[in-house]
Amino acid sequence: MGSGGAQAEARRHAVIFLGAPGVGKGTQAKEVARALQVPHLSTGDMFRDHVGRGTGLGQKAKPVMQSGELVPDEIVLGMVEERIARPDCERGFIFDGFPRTLAQAEALDRILAARSFGKSTVVLHVVVAEEQLLRRLTGRRSCKLCGEIYNVFDRPPKQEGRCDKDGGELVLRDDDREEVIRARKAAYERQTRPLVAYYQNKGALVELDGVGAPEAIARKVLEILGAGGA
Ligand code: AMP
Repeated sequence: MGSGGAQAEARRHAVIFLGAPGVGKGTQAKEVARALQVPHLSTGDMFRDHVGRGTGLGQKAKPVMQSGELVPDEIVLGMVEERIARPDCERGFIFDGFPRTLAQAEALDRILAARSFGKSTVVLHVVVAEEQLLRRLTGRRSCKLCGEIYNVFDRPPKQEGRCDKDGGELVLRDDDREEVIRARKAAYERQTRPLVAYYQNKGALVELDGVGAPEAIARKVLEILGAGGA
């Protein structure tokens, strides 16, 4: 191991994607996770998985998600804590859609400090012009089988309605309907936007232009993390 160990340590990152619904966090976070070979932890995906499997947690989350509101902090935090305690998170992880409230951010600080990720936490604030946001949300389709995200305007699949990877059916998420989108945006403004100032004050925030190909954005993120090209 030798210096390789020290290098690996320096590259151990907790990355948080922060941004309004529709900025493309999911696609970008997946791309970066693939490049860094660390888990992509989307709390939204975790909840959708619970809902799909009909677990107790899923039954609690389902009506909240359908309304566009946020699932209570205790539920989210319990789920996240359990997930990042698994061995595959040892080398780092990418959060997408978490934290979403000040209470979640404060709890996460404690969790990350306990796992020695405190100093290597980078928060990417993804910014996209307002008119782009709605287009991204209403155009979004995801694969029923693997969760891969497409956009009928900006990133269409090769064959309409089918996933390029596994041919799975591409579906509109329940919460991408227009009235739910409005509620999700309101929840973001009220509960999540304050995190921008929170992380800015900690000196952990980096602004990221969310317009462009996901691969190009991922390259930019790797540069920010000091992991580009090496
Ligand atoms: P997303 O796919 O990240 O947009 O999440 C879909 C829905 O899951 C949200 O609208 C919330 O209802 C719920 N959710 C996901 N992540 C969180 C979180 N960190 N805190 C509270 N609710 C969440």
